[in-house]
Amino acid sequence: AKFVYSFGEGQADGDSTMRELLGGKGMNLADMTSIGLPVPPGFTMTTEVCKAFYANDRDYPDEVREQVANALQLLEKRMGKGFGDAANPLLVSVRSGAPASMPGMMDTVLNLGLNDQTIQGVIKQSNDPRFAYDSYRRFIQMYSNVVMGMDGEILEHLLDQKKQQRGVALDTQLSADDLKQLVADFKASCKQTLNQDFPEDPQEQLWGAISAVFGSWMNPRAVTYRKLNGIPAHWGTAVNVQAMVFGNMGDDCATGVAFTRDPSTGENYFYGEYLVNAQGEDVVAGIRTPQPINRAKYQEGDLPAMEEVMPASYQELAKIRDLLERHYKDMQDIEFTIEKGKLYMLQTRTGKRTAHAAIRIAVEMVNEGLISEQEAVLRVSPDQLDQLLHPSLDPQAEKQVIAKGLPASPGAASGQVIFTADEAEELARLKKDVILVRVETSPEDIHGMHAARGILTARGGMTSHAAVVARGMGKCCVSGCGAIKIDYEKQQFTTEAGQVIKRGEYITLDGSAGEVLLGNVPKVEPQVCGDFATLMAWADSFRRLKVRTNADTPYDSKVARDFGAEGIGLCRTEHMFFEGDRIQTVREMILANDLAGRKRALDKILPMQKSDFLGIFREMKGLPVTIRLLDPPLHEFLPQNDDDVSELAQAVGIRFSEVKSHVEKLHEFNPMLGHRGCRLAITYPEVYDMQVQAIMEAACELVRDEQFDIVPEIMIPLVAHVNELRILRENAVKMADAVCERYGVKVKYLIGTMIELPRACLTADAIAEEAEFFSFGTNDLTQTTYGLSRDDAGNFLPDYVERGVLKKDPFVALDQRGVGELVKLGFERGRSTRPDLKVGICGEHGGEPSSVIFCHKIGLDYVSCSPYRVPVARLAAAHAAI
Ligand code: ADP
Ligand code: MG
Ligand code: MG
Repeated sequence: AKFVYSFGEGQADGDSTMRELLGGKGMNLADMTSIGLPVPPGFTMTTEVCKAFYANDRDYPDEVREQVANALQLLEKRMGKGFGDAANPLLVSVRSGAPASMPGMMDTVLNLGLNDQTIQGVIKQSNDPRFAYDSYRRFIQMYSNVVMGMDGEILEHLLDQKKQQRGVALDTQLSADDLKQLVADFKASCKQTLNQDFPEDPQEQLWGAISAVFGSWMNPRAVTYRKLNGIPAHWGTAVNVQAMVFGNMGDDCATGVAFTRDPSTGENYFYGEYLVNAQGEDVVAGIRTPQPINRAKYQEGDLPAMEEVMPASYQELAKIRDLLERHYKDMQDIEFTIEKGKLYMLQTRTGKRTAHAAIRIAVEMVNEGLISEQEAVLRVSPDQLDQLLHPSLDPQAEKQVIAKGLPASPGAASGQVIFTADEAEELARLKKDVILVRVETSPEDIHGMHAARGILTARGGMTSHAAVVARGMGKCCVSGCGAIKIDYEKQQFTTEAGQVIKRGEYITLDGSAGEVLLGNVPKVEPQVCGDFATLMAWADSFRRLKVRTNADTPYDSKVARDFGAEGIGLCRTEHMFFEGDRIQTVREMILANDLAGRKRALDKILPMQKSDFLGIFREMKGLPVTIRLLDPPLHEFLPQNDDDVSELAQAVGIRFSEVKSHVEKLHEFNPMLGHRGCRLAITYPEVYDMQVQAIMEAACELVRDEQFDIVPEIMIPLVAHVNELRILRENAVKMADAVCERYGVKVKYLIGTMIELPRACLTADAIAEEAEFFSFGTNDLTQTTYGLSRDDAGNFLPDYVERGVLKKDPFVALDQRGVGELVKLGFERGRSTRPDLKVGICGEHGGEPSSVIFCHKIGLDYVSCSPYRVPVARLAAAHAAI
């Protein structure tokens, strides 16, 4: 088998279809080589080698060793250098590269092949001992840490000491002799700490590094990252061995990171940072302040741009930028190095971006003729849209800006200041909003970043770890806020003005402006406009599935309409029972001892419900509205503790003991499966009668007085047996027809049911005889199919997901194999009886992309979700249809 793929001199064994085998980095190095870009030659060891490595107890088949030897020979020939040749040494980097991008999660070693002999060759050839020893000390630092497992702090500390000794601030200010001394000190420190000599043999170095990179696939932070991002462990990583080029050979050298468009806003300008006389991760590690690539966004006080400092290299890079975008038809994230004025490309990949940027880039690329409207719609993930549907700072709000940093990831967030990732995670579990504040973040902080509402760092640029990870997560982030001084010990930070913010105090971040504000600043609702609206219009033109909303108030209905809802799929009437002091009347109804008493109370509730429906119908003008009749068990409306019971007794003028006994009578051991839904109306038909009357009176009045076109859809919940529905339907029809007759107008209405019990799915053919529509209530259907109480599952479901028993929480993403199967079956059986049966789902799943796609596939008419998820569902429905 072929385990090793070479690239160089315009030729590559691999190509752009081999992501799985070569990893993203290896694939694109091959691809860039083939299209003629200046890529240092090298070779890629495939993910198959990674699998063999783990299968072989962390060793390699002979075949792999042979192929690497051959590839190395070819590389030596291409470079005209010898690996380990003291006079003319080849140096290489050993780089990880998995099929899915895992930025910063795994390890890389640079300048490999240096030892006390080859260093002489490097000095002679470069005529630059400072550069040679700088490379050597970097190699020892990386290798000892990544391969030998030495704590990186130890050598970092020696380096700092040396700088102090010399009275300099920057690495670049150390002399050749200083660095040479450091190399010796580093080696001695390795020997002392690890009781092991630093390896001199280049072959030993090479295989050590290769094994360390394959080994890093299983390091804890990589494992965590994969879990968070759903990347399977069995994919494995590839390893790239590549000839070194040097950005640290002097002032005509540099290294940089760039995005072909702004990853935060999506604006079409060349965005990036670089450092003169630097290597590898210097730019992102925040060792010196990086300089901008071009002058487009130049601000007073910025360091000179590459455009001015290295105009020829800049021009070449700008050309490559265009070429890459035309080649990949997407925004790219690139790494490059300039050695003595010559530009080299070291990496390209699809750039991570905010939702905002994703939309702008997709729409602009359609306008530029790069991609089609369909592709544009597919470019934006529905999950990501969520970011845009969160509030931003209210422009009217009073704001006190206490510090300014970089606008690293947009949106606004408020929370309590917390200084460690662990604590952030703990508090988030207790449903607290936290802002994670760090000097800078590292991969060890990922779990805390995930748990936080927003992230604030004192150090690091727009491409720093914090910025990149936050954008990927869609979290608001302000980075590089040098104006604050963080004191981890005292658990506080101090602003430039001397204001002290302690752990637990509230701050607000504006990630779009890069501002830190005091307190919990009010926020405003998001809007769908501009490019967002354009993209959503395209999405709508491709989708078949309709999207409705779950709304109980005119306000929610309006929000949902503005987000593009095409009707209400679920209006829960019980919410109206709690409004203001209505609850008092509802309690009177429940406490009444006879029908007459109940009716008296219901008569008082009727006009209130009617006015609610008038409001909602007006707001949803012309669109379908599904109204669910009363669903929860009655005891939910009664007070439970004695104080409240006695208060109620006084208010309605009944004896305490009598109220108390009512409350006790209504107590149920398992209310979820108790006297609720249609079961209530079998016992107390007058409740549903009142509700149907309110719905129909509202509809009749609008039709009569306001020339409305409305078809109310009356939904009866929790039906298990067709007979329940038969009886309640008859009652409803009688009432509805009576109202129409009284008003003298004809209003068309539908009567249907919520399908939320397995028995209802199984007998859907019978139920459809009595129902004109079905709405799958997948929350209850999940509870009853799994036999899993939603209110109790929170205690143990996380363990299930953690241990891989379940991939996802079935209350979040529809369990397609189980619950989904029942939905499909119920849908098919229902349609077999009534071919024009309207069918949709409501519940949390209606706004979750994978569930929406499932609903499209099985052929439902619509999904219904909360107002803020409507755009997410519209886009997911389009993805399903394209
Ligand atoms: P990561 O996946 O963490 O970005 P990389 O393998 O891309 O790690 O390596 C990190 C950095 O090392 C790159 O940004 C690049 O600047 C530098 N680098 C890697 N290989 C070479 C090389 N052959 N020559 C010069 N610099 C290199
Ligand atoms: Mg790295
Ligand atoms: Mg990289």
